[in-house]
Amino acid sequence: MSFGKWLSLGVGLVAAVLTAVFLFLDPTPPLPIWGNGVSIRIGIAGVFGGLIGLAHWLVMSRFNAELRRLTCHVEVLTKSDVSDLTLEPGMGLAPLALAVEQGMQHLRQRTQKLVSKRRELEIQLRIAEAERRHAEAVLNSIADAVLVTDAFNELALANKAAASVLNFDLGFSRRRPIDEVLDDRALVKLIKDTREGAPSVANLRRHVEHRLTRNGREHVYDVTVAGIGGDAADSEAAAGDGHDALGVVTVIRDVTREREIAEMKSDFVSSVSHELRTPLSSIKAYVEMLVDGEAHDEQTRAEFYNIIQSETNRLSRLIDNILNISRIESGVVRVQREQVSLPSLIREAIDVMLPQARARNIELKDVSAPVFFQVFADKDMVYQATLNLLGNAIKYTPKGGRVTTSIVVDEAARVVRVSVQDTGVGIPPEDVPHLFEKFYRVHQHKKLAQGTGLGLNLVKQIIETVHGGTMTVASEPGKGSSFTYSLPLADNI
Ligand code: ADP
Repeated sequence: MSFGKWLSLGVGLVAAVLTAVFLFLDPTPPLPIWGNGVSIRIGIAGVFGGLIGLAHWLVMSRFNAELRRLTCHVEVLTKSDVSDLTLEPGMGLAPLALAVEQGMQHLRQRTQKLVSKRRELEIQLRIAEAERRHAEAVLNSIADAVLVTDAFNELALANKAAASVLNFDLGFSRRRPIDEVLDDRALVKLIKDTREGAPSVANLRRHVEHRLTRNGREHVYDVTVAGIGGDAADSEAAAGDGHDALGVVTVIRDVTREREIAEMKSDFVSSVSHELRTPLSSIKAYVEMLVDGEAHDEQTRAEFYNIIQSETNRLSRLIDNILNISRIESGVVRVQREQVSLPSLIREAIDVMLPQARARNIELKDVSAPVFFQVFADKDMVYQATLNLLGNAIKYTPKGGRVTTSIVVDEAARVVRVSVQDTGVGIPPEDVPHLFEKFYRVHQHKKLAQGTGLGLNLVKQIIETVHGGTMTVASEPGKGSSFTYSLPLADNI
């Protein structure tokens, strides 16, 4: 039996007991048939109690039915989007139904607002994520190292270049304090100082030269640190008011190469001026002697003319080198290709360099095997390249050394290789990759011989840019060097 039925039974029993008590309290018989009326009173109390219990059960059943209807209605309203289900429950439940319906409507409106707010936030999140990815892609496309720290000196953004230059793990460093991310105390201090002390616009952006050792080599960096405000427009105002910046953008640019080039250029200018001045002063001195009539006899005059001629040649060679390189680089050089016999070209070059080699007691020999082949090249240019290599070999080989030329034909690769090998001072391995750069001179060699650092660059331009060949070098400090150029065999051109 259900709880409702038990309850109605209980109510009926209570009503019967109360009626019986009430009837027994009044001893006066209301009717002549009443007698002592015990059984009648119990009967009436029983019937009354039964009626009350029945009435209670009927009312409760109806009430429960209405309540179930209301519950179903609320469930329908909760589970579906339907909002116009109207219910008019009896049993005085109408106000409750109305209140529930109003409550539901209110809840529904709030839910709808929350759903649309959530959608809006999801869209904003997606946009923010896309923007973050875009910002990261932009940052990563920048070759300079970029770090962005926030108001708590935590790393907000960084690019791959920053992780590589400053040696930290990009994945694990975001949102971590900058002093935990970077080992470089000086840089950390600079970033913190910039955030905390931006008392004037002048201090807002600072350039600092910073040196770091990477892979055993010292690099020079130009570090730009800039305090940022709430937005770009605020930043100057924030700094002007003396507030702490909300973050700091640090850009680290490797200027090692620029510094080296600047140094090389200034070395080049002084070397070129020196190289130009030496023959010029000599020409000037001999011309003055001739003008002053200091050359009394024909033989002295002829000697002076010879010196003037050779110095003029030297001067024009230097100027030619500079002009040739710039012509090749700008693509305006005129290339006159013809069948060239490399063995005779090398012999010619050796003949020209022989006096120079003899003057330094250097043996100059050619060990090429007699093979037949043809190259189709600009003879003057290849001759110039060979002369430069021979000249260097003689210049950087101590007295009593040996310079050997050789030609090897590689039929399989369809190239011919010409090598100029010396027993000279050799080249330190760290200088080898830079040898063919313009103006580059090995530091230790500067006192050995005068030079401009242009000769090998011109050789490389002639062999590779003009003729599509290759230029290689092998060297061992203290033992000697071997410079080799390869040119395509004639039918390959
Ligand atoms: P330079 O006028 O200084 O000789 P180059 O461009 O011809 O200029 O050579 C660049 C540098 O390469 C030289 O300064 C020298 O240090 C080095 N070098 C070139 N050839 C040799 C060689 N045969 N032996 C040793 N060092 C060499």
